[in-house]
Amino acid sequence: MAILFHSVRLDAEKCQGCTNCIKRCPTQAIRVRNKKAYIISDRCIDCGECIRVCPHHAKYAVSEPFNELLKYKYRIALPAPALYGQFNNLENVDYVLTGLKKMGFDDVTEVSKGAELISAATRVMMESGELQKPVISSACPAVLRLIRTRFPNLIKNLLPMCAPVDLAAKIARKKAAETTGYKEDEIGVFFITPCPAKRTAIRNPLCHESDGISGAIAIKDIYPVLVQTMDRLTSEEIEPINDSGIIGVGWASSGGEAAGLLKERYLAADGIENVINVLEELEDEKLNDLDFIELNCCTGGCVGGVLTVENPYVAKARLQRLRKFMPVSCNNLEDDFNWDEIGWTKELTPSPAMKLADNVIKAMRLMTQLREIEASLPGLDCGICGAPSCRALAEDIVRGYAEETDCVLHNIQVGGNGKGEDWLPAPFRVKVLNEDANEGGANES
Ligand code: SF4
Ligand code: SF4
Repeated sequence: MAILFHSVRLDAEKCQGCTNCIKRCPTQAIRVRNKKAYIISDRCIDCGECIRVCPHHAKYAVSEPFNELLKYKYRIALPAPALYGQFNNLENVDYVLTGLKKMGFDDVTEVSKGAELISAATRVMMESGELQKPVISSACPAVLRLIRTRFPNLIKNLLPMCAPVDLAAKIARKKAAETTGYKEDEIGVFFITPCPAKRTAIRNPLCHESDGISGAIAIKDIYPVLVQTMDRLTSEEIEPINDSGIIGVGWASSGGEAAGLLKERYLAADGIENVINVLEELEDEKLNDLDFIELNCCTGGCVGGVLTVENPYVAKARLQRLRKFMPVSCNNLEDDFNWDEIGWTKELTPSPAMKLADNVIKAMRLMTQLREIEASLPGLDCGICGAPSCRALAEDIVRGYAEETDCVLHNIQVGGNGKGEDWLPAPFRVKVLNEDANEGGANES
């Protein structure tokens, strides 16, 4: 089996086995066993939701340390537009971009430049009538992985284009190759990332070959040094680097990508639960009158990534203010635009993580068993067994990873565990008593 790369990790020492994370995981990728959480690798989409909800800080995201830059002779920063929302009273993004150069980068290419080109290319593609509508944005890598894991029927609706950071990296490398004498492996290209899913997508791209990004540095790691560097800058030192406008920077917040398409029939949803609701409605063919659907797993869009420092709503408000000082767009498709640079080069295939078996007959047999076991469980989805729901426990049982005795309530129902029910929380006792009463035909005490 291929070893899967993930940027979200567990610190087992810190984990208290409290089960807070298991229900929030959108792909049911977490189990608690022996008072410790485990992540099922092929289900995890690196959304970072478990990092948000863990009260013991046992889940964390890995990104490249700043000294990774030292491996390269020429270093390029690719700042996500969400970075601009981290600074109060920012009126000129050149302060941020010049600050990055003062910190040790030799050049900077804005991801928002790539975003404006992707917006322009998407507009052309939408007009062509070649795309399956409603078209779903493929920019959020956690959404991309969520769709291939839980909603594979919707893969056909995904926009088959690379993310803005991939295009920005290609532009940056091309410029460096033309203006410096450095060889490719002497040039380091680093994404300044708001979330772990983007780092995973860089290290393990699903829809294209590697795009030459050397690593991803978390916004929260670079922020303290960058803000100090910016504070020391004089206005004479500011370099005119900025090469993007409202359309590109707008991608940092939910709705920004869709607004850049200049279409009316679009929907933008953010936050993992809202995203799942929209995908379920889409699967039920309730949203077929839309042209475009923008989905971001993080609340507020990329500004809500777990590797940012600022509250997403504050960051969004700052970006709104910054718009006053920006042109609408600085980038459009030239006649010689290379479409091959942005298209997917690999087919996105459904993830096998949710399949019970490769063999259809075996899968059907296991599904029948799963349903029988699920029907025998209490249906409370309490999580005490360490699985997020009774159905998930039933699935673990048919896969051979758990046993029916892992359900404490099931033990009582089939004959008691010798302790009676008094040790259970009240709601569970009531449920068990009611079921007993119904089965016995008596409902009076
Ligand atoms: S939320 Fe999950 S990872 Fe955090 S302590 Fe509880 S069980 Fe462990
Ligand atoms: S990062 Fe997301 S998908 Fe992965 S274990 Fe955490 S909540 Fe689940």
